[in-house]
Amino acid sequence: MEKSPESVKVLFEGRYRKLVRDLPQTVFFCPECKGRGCARCEGFGKLTRDSVQELIARVAMPRLKARRNKFHGAGREDLDVRMLGAGRPFVFEALKCKRPMIDLDELAAEINHRAESRIEVSELRFSSRKRVVEIKETRCPKEYGALVAFAEATDPQGLAGRFEELRGRGRIEILQETPARVAHRRAILHRERWIEVLSAEAEGERWRVRIRSAHGTYIKEAISGEDGRTQPSLSQLVGSPCTCVELDVLEILPPEDPPA
Ligand SMILES: [Zn+2]
Repeated sequence: MEKSPESVKVLFEGRYRKLVRDLPQTVFFCPECKGRGCARCEGFGKLTRDSVQELIARVAMPRLKARRNKFHGAGREDLDVRMLGAGRPFVFEALKCKRPMIDLDELAAEINHRAESRIEVSELRFSSRKRVVEIKETRCPKEYGALVAFAEATDPQGLAGRFEELRGRGRIEILQETPARVAHRRAILHRERWIEVLSAEAEGERWRVRIRSAHGTYIKEAISGEDGRTQPSLSQLVGSPCTCVELDVLEILPPEDPPA
């Protein structure tokens, strides 16, 4: 039986880079009114005007003459975290397309032009439902750039020495409890992860730290330790309480087999 043009679904995949710190990955509905519009969101129904999903949809939807869309990312970064390097894999799913055949190179060029350096998409190609499952299930370590602030005045030479020591240790096993900020929507579990300090450089009072971690590590909490919820944390390892004040994903590394 032939499908009516009304039911044509188009999936395309690619990678996105997110170059700003005020952009969620997907439509971020106001938690107060769930999108209906209220005083908190000034009637918008959303707390941020845009998202990666909407910056892509704004160009893709009229071209495909599509009705609705879904966005599937290979994980997600917090809205204040930039996604740099080669970008994060995603699949964009457009539903009820009346014009399913479009030029994806042209689409990418127009998305990047209209997004005005807030996002960049690349490697667009037509995709499938199977790929959605694949990119959701792939477990990739990440490399981060973190700007780290120390709570107490710390001797920079002493810190440099301790970072140097950490750098020589390679992967460090950590045990991480579900962070307080997500514990209301996820079960509290203790998970075995690892972190690896690659480099650390003083930047004024703060430190620019390049760090890798296992898939699923909450990196901000792995830095601060969050009152002992991560053991050992970077704070413990360098021997001085610190927090992550700015974070970038520098690279999504090739997948590793999940631990047995
Ligand atoms: Zn609202």
